[in-house]
Formats: sequence, structure tokens, C-alpha cells
Amino acid sequence: MTLRRSRRSPSTAAVAARVGAAIGALVVAHAAPSVLAIPRVRARLSARVTGVGDGGRIALTFDDGPNPVSTPRFLEALDESGVKATFFMLGCMAARAPALSRAIVEAGHEVALHGWSHRILMLRGPAATYADLARARSLIADLTGQEPRFFRPPHGLFSTPALVAAARLELTPVLWTCWGRDWKPQATPESILAKLRPGLNGGATILLHDADGDQAPCAWRSTLRALPWVLEECARRGLRVGPLRDHVTPTQPAPATP
Ligand SMILES: [Zn+2]
Repeated sequence: MTLRRSRRSPSTAAVAARVGAAIGALVVAHAAPSVLAIPRVRARLSARVTGVGDGGRIALTFDDGPNPVSTPRFLEALDESGVKATFFMLGCMAARAPALSRAIVEAGHEVALHGWSHRILMLRGPAATYADLARARSLIADLTGQEPRFFRPPHGLFSTPALVAAARLELTPVLWTCWGRDWKPQATPESILAKLRPGLNGGATILLHDADGDQAPCAWRSTLRALPWVLEECARRGLRVGPLRDHVTPTQPAPATP
């Protein structure tokens, strides 16, 4: 599928300037994803890249879907709570669940890009990386009618080709500030909340998963049970929970009206 509108190719200098804003993420790109759990490391990254937003808000994001078994359960839970979130979707998953992809946007949520498949982009070359991201972005836009604005690479591992491709595709790279480590086989609702609780502060971006992806089978069930507790804790702290679009200003220009 093709993008809904033609895109100007930014100059090399423009792309380099955009990439520069996110270059701190390359510190992470050559290390394990777990280094993002170290506050000292995250503090060195651009605030925008790590997902630090406005003070009174907290962004809720989900990775690895949409999955026809698990994602509808999250949509129901969010609907009951009256909360909107950002879903970082995989192109290969969206291709298998077009109606569900549409339903996410129809429910008022934001869709964002997590890649075509859950492969580590550091192991891919520039052409393959661009092709993957462009294909996924185009598919998600076509299925949902919403242009993705944000990009989070699988495992949180950026590569230089991924950052360049994101800039060319007008996607803003975003990671997260706190996670529930909900993909772990031993994760429980209690452990997810305990892991998140210290990071539930104004300006934070929460990472959870609405699908298993590389995780243990059915790990999403613990995430789903933890979700109301996480939202209650945010409410108790006076934080407004919402999607990234209400939280982080994209580095890329807003899509033009078709
Ligand atoms: Zn993922």
C-alpha cells in the first residue's frame, strides 16, 4: 500500500539535523534494552526521545499489537476507565487484524509505529530498515485513516538507519520513562504496578504491552489486571492519563491535510 500523500524528501542536512535531536538514543543502541531501566542513562537522552512530556500529564502506551485475542480486552478496559492511549503497532500484526486496527482509532486512541516485525533494527541495513518502516507506516495509515506521528523501535533499540528513516517518514522517535516489565514470564499484576509506581510522575511515559510479542505466552493477562491499578494510582497522584499526542510535541511537522 502507498502513503496517502506524496512526501518531499528532506535534504541530507535536514535529516541530519532531525537525527541529531535523537542521537543520544544511540548510546542505548549499542547496549541491551535493559540499560533504559537505569535512570542515569535515560537522563542523558533527549527528553523528547525518552517520552518526557508536560508536567500534569502521563502518557499511556502499549507495544506489540494489535492482537485479536488480547487487544480488544485492553480497549474494553480503557473504555470503562474513559482513558485514551497510544498503541505502537507492528505492521505484520495490523495486516492480520485490519478491523481491529480501525477499531483502535475509532475508539479515540492514537496509533503509532513499532516497525513491521519485532526484529532488532540494528541488524538491518539502511534500505531494509527504510522499507520496513515505510511499509508499516503506510499500512497503518491506510487501515486506520490516522497518520502515525511517533516511532518506537522493537526492544527500544535505535540504529542510525532507523533514525534517518524515521525522519524521512516524518515520525518522531519516542521511548518511555517507566515500564512494568510486563513481558517477563514471572510478571504479576502486583509486580507490574510495583515496577511502575516510582515512575508514575508528571511528564512520564508508561510502557506496557497489549500483546505478547516476544513475551511469555499470555503475559498480557497480568498487564490487563494491572491496568486499573495503574490508572487508579495515576488518578490518586492527580495525573491526567492520555495518549502521546497530548503529551509530547512531535519533532516532525504535522501531516498535511489530504
Ligand atoms: Zn515491542
